[in-house]
Amino acid sequence: MLNYQLGLDFALEQDKKDTLALYRNLFHIPKDTFGNDCIYMTGNSLGLQPKQTKSYVNQELEDWATLGVEGHFNAKNPWLNYHESLGEHMAKVVGAKPVEVVVMNTLTANLHFMMVSFYKPTKTRYKILIEADAFPSDKYAVESQLRHHGFNDKEGLVLWKARKGEELANYRDLEAVLETQGNNIALILIGAVNYYTGQYFDLKRITQLGHKHGCIVGFDCAHGAGNVSLNLHDSGADFAAWCTYKYLNSGPGSIAGCFVHERHAYTKNLNRFTGWWSHNKKTRFKMRDEFDQLPGAEGWQLSNPPILAMAAIRASLDIFNEVGMEKLTEKSKKLTGYFEFLLKQLDEDIIRIITPKNPDERGCQLSIAVNNADKSLHNKLTEAGVISDWREPNVIRCAPVPLYNSFQDVYYLVERLKNILSE
Ligand SMILES: *Cc1c(COP(=O)(O)O)cnc(C)c1O
Repeated sequence: MLNYQLGLDFALEQDKKDTLALYRNLFHIPKDTFGNDCIYMTGNSLGLQPKQTKSYVNQELEDWATLGVEGHFNAKNPWLNYHESLGEHMAKVVGAKPVEVVVMNTLTANLHFMMVSFYKPTKTRYKILIEADAFPSDKYAVESQLRHHGFNDKEGLVLWKARKGEELANYRDLEAVLETQGNNIALILIGAVNYYTGQYFDLKRITQLGHKHGCIVGFDCAHGAGNVSLNLHDSGADFAAWCTYKYLNSGPGSIAGCFVHERHAYTKNLNRFTGWWSHNKKTRFKMRDEFDQLPGAEGWQLSNPPILAMAAIRASLDIFNEVGMEKLTEKSKKLTGYFEFLLKQLDEDIIRIITPKNPDERGCQLSIAVNNADKSLHNKLTEAGVISDWREPNVIRCAPVPLYNSFQDVYYLVERLKNILSE
């Protein structure tokens, strides 16, 4: 670990040494009212736009303009199999095999499609376990699945809660819940990195625990993809889904990623919703054939995909592919460690970091509880050119993203926070 030091000089020196520093220039950085770069700390909410995204999208607009329907075959990047290279690059980002990953739909939609296949409740085994502070969309999605299958959405939902007075979930408690209710739980669905606390769960441990009790295990990787090395294949998880507009910088509401473990890749009799894009590619356009299931995660697609959205994902994944998750997480640990070091210099009675201290149990985000604070603190930060995220009752979430945030960013973030708190 780095020997962190106070003062701007240290930050500048680290930026000089940083082999990824130049990647910042590949992104549009929003400006503050004085025309300076904002301190952008919300890459966990909406990642910044790569400068090359425009030309990638324009290429498809051009090809559409000049080729019309022929673009399916003759575009510079033919639209017919456009999603395949995305799947391959995406698989590297999340640590999976190409056959296990597809880019399609949106995140919550993918969670539902995965549950169509993997949530198969019986009279005795029907409950769904989620973490207590799950992202609302995930909670609403599983509640509606319970209702859809005729179960009570309160009684059927099992929560993995943090202990009284604590924020982080404890594996002992998960073990205890599974000991007592494991036989009734059909599905475990956990946010790989919790959106609120920034806790990065041990996916393999949870999966093994769940499987031991006969549960299906899936992960929502919205806050994990592009942030931590997920190693989805090795985790053994049955399925996962994530969005691409947070750490993956693919634009607001852009389409999502989906993982289905290889062991389910060739199982044709899994129950699922299908469309023409789940059908064998070789005969898809014959149109009159009986349905023939396409193997792998691709087989969960329904529709022909939105190329304009995919062009933006392609622009972003080309950068990820070049850098690689290993180098990214290496810098991320240094940068977030520096952030933590600086925050520790502030008054402990006022500032408390909720996120785990162990760098292996978190990504780049730190969630900071500020005593006696309200949203005016967040507004003052915004006025000072810091874009951060506020969660009631008193938590600021900041995510220094290794692709485009600098040590200098982190230095000024903490300086401005300190100034506002001492007013
Ligand atoms: C961001 C996020 C979502 C958002 O879902 P969409 O379907 O993309 O709107 C859902 N779940 C988690 C855990 C998230 O972090």
